[in-house]
Amino acid sequence: MYDVAVAGVGIAGAFALNSLSKKLRVVGIDKREKLGYPVECGELVPTKREMKNLLPKLGDYSLFDIPEKFKSNKTEYFEFVIPNGKSIEIEFEMLVINRDKFISSVAENSGHEIKRKTRIMDYDGKLRLKDPNSTYELEAKVIIASDGANSKIAKKLGVWNYEIAAAKQYVMKDVECDESTVYMFVGSKIAPGGYAWIIPKGNGIANVGVGIRLNYLEKGDSIHKVLERFVREYPYSSKYLKKAEIIEKIGAVAPVDKPLSKTVFDKILLVGDSASMILSHVAAGIPISMVAGDIAGKVVNEYFEGKASLEDYDYMWREKMLDAMMNSYRIKQLWDKISETDERLCRYFKFIGKKDMSAILRSRIPLKLRLAEKAVPLLNVIF
Ligand SMILES: Cc1cc2nc3c(=O)[nH]c(=O)nc-3n(C[C@H](O)[C@H](O)[C@H](O)COP(=O)(O)OP(=O)(O)OC[C@H]3O[C@@H](n4cnc5c(N)ncnc54)[C@H](O)[C@@H]3O)c2cc1C
Repeated sequence: MYDVAVAGVGIAGAFALNSLSKKLRVVGIDKREKLGYPVECGELVPTKREMKNLLPKLGDYSLFDIPEKFKSNKTEYFEFVIPNGKSIEIEFEMLVINRDKFISSVAENSGHEIKRKTRIMDYDGKLRLKDPNSTYELEAKVIIASDGANSKIAKKLGVWNYEIAAAKQYVMKDVECDESTVYMFVGSKIAPGGYAWIIPKGNGIANVGVGIRLNYLEKGDSIHKVLERFVREYPYSSKYLKKAEIIEKIGAVAPVDKPLSKTVFDKILLVGDSASMILSHVAAGIPISMVAGDIAGKVVNEYFEGKASLEDYDYMWREKMLDAMMNSYRIKQLWDKISETDERLCRYFKFIGKKDMSAILRSRIPLKLRLAEKAVPLLNVIF
């Protein structure tokens, strides 16, 4: 019997392993052979300075002292491009990380046992696992469920009811864009219900992808076609991609919802995407999952020392991160209302300035948006 099983070693799981005490008998479990690979992510993380704006209640930002060896690029601007090709450039410092190396290094340096190529098949009080040789059961006193947006454990608990977006991404070489800028494109043709991105990793390599919501797709369209349109045809993006070649392709999903209202179920703590912990207006979950994993591990340590209850985890992550996630969710809801047509979206954008966009990207709700929230039905008639 293990003290703790960390079910899924992605971002949240790695940071949970990292903070779990060496005195406990801990096992990390992941279906992948190489932790974090393939990279199903844009790999963008705000710098430590930006994290202070994004999560002002965090207090300790040392998790965001990301070592140089995991950084592939540092960007300074966001260029937000609307369907008529107009753009707003916002100052926002981000790191583009080598996410796979980051995850495997953090998990491996924890010193805890890790079972790779081991799939969680079911949970019924015990974890039912399958590795290339056998199927077996594993028991743990506490389970940190960090098995991502398609969480088997959240499904088993009956709480997997959050909205999910689909994403497809190419890693491309010979991309000709400004490598100090992250490009974000919105519009119904190139990103129905979501956005498309070019995230430069440095040396002409970039993550180029789209995140969409399937119910926004027109009949006969597909995410594959959407990404191809974005890469080959869309004038505002394809100009950077004329010579670009695909190196890798991935497809993945991300929650785009508010976090679950309860994340501790008896001896199970849901952490990261499995609990829909995300900044849903941009589907950004790396920093949130790092913090949530760290808090989960620390609470579990104190639980075994008799100093805390597991429910403290629910309270602690909310105290530090809920405001940002809920603001983000409100922005996403409002966005859905003002972006029903590309024409309307462009008209609204005349009234959203640089300062407002800067606040929105940092999960803050500027006054104009607060007022618009109440008046959207009326404004939609005017626009
Ligand atoms: C295309 C795309 C781009 C994104 N870009 C960004 C970005 O640039 N910045 C950002 O902040 N966020 C981004 N996100 C969101 C971000 O990737 C997630 O929010 C974050 O990875 C969540 O971390 P996690 O540990 O909860 O889940 P994951 O990192 O997904 O980890 C879950 C782990 O569980 C394992 N697992 C799952 N099921 C099982 C099973 N049955 N058995 C065993 N193991 C299992 C998986 O192998 C994986 O290692 C993006 C998401 C997508 C889909």
